[in-house]
Amino acid sequence: MYEAVIGLEVHLHLKTRTKAFCGCLADYFGAEPNTHTCPVCLGLPGALPVPNRKAVEFGLRLALALGSQVPDRLLFHRKNYFYPDLPKNYQISQYDLPLGQGGTLPLGERSVRIRRLHLEEDAGKSLHLEDRTLLDLNRAGSPLIELVTEPDLRSPEEARLFLQRIQALVQTLGISEASPEEGKMRADVNVSVRRAGEPLGTKVEIKNLNSFKGVQRALEYEIRRQTEILRRGERVKPATMGFEEGSGKTYPLRTKEEEADYRYFPEPDLPPVPISREWLETIRQDLPELPWEKERRYLALGIKAQDAEVLAYTPALARFLDRALALGQASPQALANWLLADVAGLLNERGVALEATRLTPEALARLVTLFERGEITSRVAKGLLPELLEGADPEALVRERGLGAVADETALRAVVAEVIQAMPEAARSVRQGKLKALDALLGQVMRKTQGQARPDLVRRLLLEALGVG
Ligand SMILES: [Zn+2]
Repeated sequence: MYEAVIGLEVHLHLKTRTKAFCGCLADYFGAEPNTHTCPVCLGLPGALPVPNRKAVEFGLRLALALGSQVPDRLLFHRKNYFYPDLPKNYQISQYDLPLGQGGTLPLGERSVRIRRLHLEEDAGKSLHLEDRTLLDLNRAGSPLIELVTEPDLRSPEEARLFLQRIQALVQTLGISEASPEEGKMRADVNVSVRRAGEPLGTKVEIKNLNSFKGVQRALEYEIRRQTEILRRGERVKPATMGFEEGSGKTYPLRTKEEEADYRYFPEPDLPPVPISREWLETIRQDLPELPWEKERRYLALGIKAQDAEVLAYTPALARFLDRALALGQASPQALANWLLADVAGLLNERGVALEATRLTPEALARLVTLFERGEITSRVAKGLLPELLEGADPEALVRERGLGAVADETALRAVVAEVIQAMPEAARSVRQGKLKALDALLGQVMRKTQGQARPDLVRRLLLEALGVG
């Protein structure tokens, strides 16, 4: 039996206003090429970098959330390599004293160990045309966090889940949009295959994966490839690979630089940045509730485990739910059901995000409360939801359209009698104990009352009228 051993290296763009070491605006997404540059990020001679305090703080937020060890000062190193989109011919990064060491991220029953996380700057972008290559240096000098895990992951699905968890965490911390589609979250993976219980096999690195699905597919392919090599009794060669989305296959890239090739040395232009314990304590106190803490709180409120997990790790839904819960009206599980089933279904159908609608937590909570109190039926509530997405007020709609649940027993008894008379076959079956036939009668009463009768009440009245139960 073969098993995969997977480690991840995740790059996250930090949501700072300016770049890591200069005053250029970091939000260059969609901007004209080379409009967010200055002598510092262009690497012009004599220009001096200045560390962005916010970028350091964002990195510290993540380190503290993961429980990593933070040093008392931040040291920057130069990582030297030559590439057209790296104007300085080195990247300011960190080496032997990273921003964070150790720590864990909970993943279901177990946790994934974090090896390190450090702060660095991004390179620019090369755009390869048929006959030439163009450079866009807007991205050069953008602040990045590189987070490296221990090889604790065992399957492509787990790797994907880990990335989703990190994404939810940094979005909750407010430090990164972590949107792979905008290049704001990228991953490299290391994967080797071994017989369970044996020492680690030879690892292969797959670089620059820019979607969670891509990570999963690249790993699936690579694990199959390595397993076949081992089955044939051959050896896997160490390699750096790329992944082609179209074919779903990995392919060898240039041979990887060895660590010595980078000739790391301390950045002479940047003195160490002291990290006082007071500063760290302030950041720790300001940390928001973390997704796994949210999950525990939702569980304690009685929300089902599966729902609690999805909600806690989907920041937009969690924010919405928390505001709805704060009103203290609707029950937590009912809100969870509505959010995850009905609201999510409608959003999916329309291809819009929750934030893009005019649905407010207050309106949803009031709708759910009307339903829970039996003032409207589930069918009416569901019918109103599309209008709530447009900003409608649930009580106003119910009042204006007379949609309140028909709870008037005398009126309902008349409808029940009418239906029993109109459907003698079904009525006889129920009297004979075939309770399945009750559904047909119930459905007919619901139709006659436009779905506004409370099903539990109709059921009771039907059984009473038929002398059953
Ligand atoms: Zn700049």
